Order: sequence, then C-alpha cells, then structure tokens
Amino acid sequence: MSAIHELQPHALWQHFSAICDIPHPSFHEEQIREHLIGFAKEHNLEWQSDAVGNVIIRKNATPGMENRVGVIFQGHMDMVPQKNNDTVHDFPTDPIKAYIDGDWVTAEGTTLGADNGIGMAAALAVLAAKDLHHGPIEALFTATEETGMIGAQGLQSGILDGKILLNLDTEDEGELYIGCAGGTRIEVNGEYATETLVDNFVSVFHHTN
Ligand SMILES: [Zn+2]
Repeated sequence: MSAIHELQPHALWQHFSAICDIPHPSFHEEQIREHLIGFAKEHNLEWQSDAVGNVIIRKNATPGMENRVGVIFQGHMDMVPQKNNDTVHDFPTDPIKAYIDGDWVTAEGTTLGADNGIGMAAALAVLAAKDLHHGPIEALFTATEETGMIGAQGLQSGILDGKILLNLDTEDEGELYIGCAGGTRIEVNGEYATETLVDNFVSVFHHTN
C-alpha cells in the first residue's frame, strides 16, 4: 500500500495529502486560507483575499499565450465534517487520516473532504506546474460553501478577469456538468404526521407502502 502523496498524478496527490493534514471544516477555514496564501507567496504568484474570506491566486500566461482567454478554476475551501459514532476526532484541530483502500482513497472514521479538497489540489497542481503552456489563470477558492455558499454569495463582481470558469466541485466520476452558473436554496414549511418506529427497516418499508 502506497501513501496518498505517492499516487499519480504526483503533484495532485501531494497537494491533496497536504490539504488533508490541515483542518478545514466550514467556519474553521483560517488554516487552509493561510496555506493557500503561503503557496502563492512560495511560488511568487499574485494573490488576494476578500472580506468574506475567498482567496484568488493568479498565474500569468506562459510566453506567447498572453492573448488567450483567461481561465478561472473555482473550488471551495471548506469540507463537511462528519465522523462515525465511535471515532474520536476534533475537526477544527485534527488532521484527516486519509488512506488507500483498494481502488479508493478514504479516511479513517471521518469524511475525507475530497469535496472539495481534490478540486483545490487540482488547481494548485496547475498553478505550481512549470511544464504547462497556458493563457492567464485565476484560481478562485471560495469560503464556506457547504453551509450557505457564503464566499460565492459575497464575491465582489468584476474581481475576476477570466471568461471561462471551470467549477472543480463535483464528485461524480464520469458525469460532466455543462452549466452550473448558480444555485438556489428554498425553505419549505409544512406539517407531517409522526408514527411510532417499528423495529426493522423491512417492516417500515412495507408498512409505508
Ligand atoms: Zn463541494
């Protein structure tokens, strides 16, 4: 069994492994934000953060590609913190223990945070790459997506120059979104009758049918 950071493509999994080590549940995104800003500084990339905690990192076009349409990679910083009942884990402080189980990368007793850690890792791998030819790139890492899309809602209009946005936040392999430029949240109020829980699932299923 090889460690996560040894998987291929190497750069992608190295960044993902590093992200797993940094606690980043929703509303506790300071450390991951610092990690992204530190990455930008280390790679001499222009960066900015805004009032709602989004981070944007910019990478110039490679020589000869300056006139290409700019591409934006978008992902979010936070993850859903869920754990098994018998797992002791404090999401704001403890790293995710990712491991390889057959064909899968998973985590010991908790959510892995592949949503959207792998999206962030993909963007960072491109930003760090020295062997790619590309036009201007902007990576937008939005804050607190899982609980209200706070970063996306608070993003200042006109802050991005790119015209093509690649949303890196989907986890269904083999499916391609041709458009998801927005989202909505609907609050529904209603009443329902309760019934006593019976002792196994099959009988509940038959009962309600
Ligand atoms: Zn997501």
